[in-house]
Amino acid sequence: MRYDYLIVGAGLFGAVFAHEMAAKGKNVLVIDKREHVAGNIYTENKLGINVHKFGAHIFHTSDKEVWDYVCRFADFNNYINSPVAVYKDELYNLPFNMNTFSKMWGIRTPDEARAIIQKQADEEIARMKKEKGTEEFTPDNLEEQALSLAGRDIYEKLVKGYTEKQWGRDCKELPSFIIRRLPMRFIYDNNYFNDRYQGIPMGGYTALIEKLLLIGSEGEKPFLSGSIKVMTGTDYYDFVKLEGNVPAEPFESVNKDQFGKILFTGMIDEFFGYKLGTLEYRSLKFETEELPEVDNYQGNAVVNYTEREIPYTRIIEHKHFEYGQGKGTVITREYPANWKHGDEPYYPMNDEKNNTLYAKYTELAKECPKVLFGGRLGQYKYYNMDQVVRASLDMVQEESK
Ligand code: FAD
Repeated sequence: MRYDYLIVGAGLFGAVFAHEMAAKGKNVLVIDKREHVAGNIYTENKLGINVHKFGAHIFHTSDKEVWDYVCRFADFNNYINSPVAVYKDELYNLPFNMNTFSKMWGIRTPDEARAIIQKQADEEIARMKKEKGTEEFTPDNLEEQALSLAGRDIYEKLVKGYTEKQWGRDCKELPSFIIRRLPMRFIYDNNYFNDRYQGIPMGGYTALIEKLLLIGSEGEKPFLSGSIKVMTGTDYYDFVKLEGNVPAEPFESVNKDQFGKILFTGMIDEFFGYKLGTLEYRSLKFETEELPEVDNYQGNAVVNYTEREIPYTRIIEHKHFEYGQGKGTVITREYPANWKHGDEPYYPMNDEKNNTLYAKYTELAKECPKVLFGGRLGQYKYYNMDQVVRASLDMVQEESK
């Protein structure tokens, strides 16, 4: 069979693209090297709970078109992300807001909070100027930046340890631009995101992706005029080697007889055999524990651990994403990790060095007009899910011109 598109990656980008192309009457083949669809938003059922296997995922957006689009494929609940931070034996609400400040300093009004933050920040700036012997203050690293924005208490209790664990480096060794601002709210509002729409798809993200890919929907109407075939457990690089598929060179990979074009949502540098160099990522390790005898482990879906001495950054209790009741719970500890070849590349490191290298790969990609690069790995961008949907829909539109 001839396919109009070979889509590498059954994550959110690939699934939206596949669905929209099938709606336009195209035949697409979707392959993924993992044994399941949904990429990093994959949820699996354990103890009757949808477990976010690759980290907590909360859908949030202000893009109404994207929101309306995803709501066609899932019912979203009214979950609002309101994480809690644990520092030693103290508990604080996030993001930094009046609940946080009130707990930290025993105050009630926004004016009191602003005055304390300003006073602490001014003290730090004065101290650093004195130490540097300068009149003007320019932060030389992330620690100096954060202290000048938020003062000592917030930095020590809520920023320092967490950031150091995330980046695997001391805040004094991290560049100041990582924290340009520290968003603070002077209202009593624990809603982490500022977006207009937010929620979790009831029944899990995997079901949403399956619906996009028409998995399990045989016989349902209305059907799309094109078709989608999905093959999991299929690595692109093995696939292209199969006789009769495509030429052996991965980056010359469109065989006109079999595939019109390729959409590649894996790592762009890997696609080109790393010939210009290797893009860097941060990785994560997840430790998931099933607790069949416990109904409520921590009382919140997301609890951050802000001390450096505790090796994980957060514990997720999955049932709270969907207001789960009853016995049994599942928790996941999330550990930041350095990335090396073979590890899962979770976060692109969008610093100058890596962005410059990525720009060179995009130049190289122009030599392969039949290959499109999409998604977090193909476009080397730290996309949120709504941005992935937007970018995928935009690519479909571009392709349809
Ligand atoms: P992916 O989901 O990575 O899909 C790419 C697919 O390509 C994968 O399935 C992979 O197996 C496959 N693939 C790669 N190479 C090959 C190959 N050679 N052959 C075959 N298949 C291949 N976003 C939010 O909006 N809200 C959140 O709360 C949120 N939390 C996050 C938490 C964590 C820990 C992480 C890492 C990300 C989070 N995100 C969040 C971002 C979100 O995960 C991404 O926006 C989204 O998953 C990206 O989709 P994608 O299709 O681009 O990539």
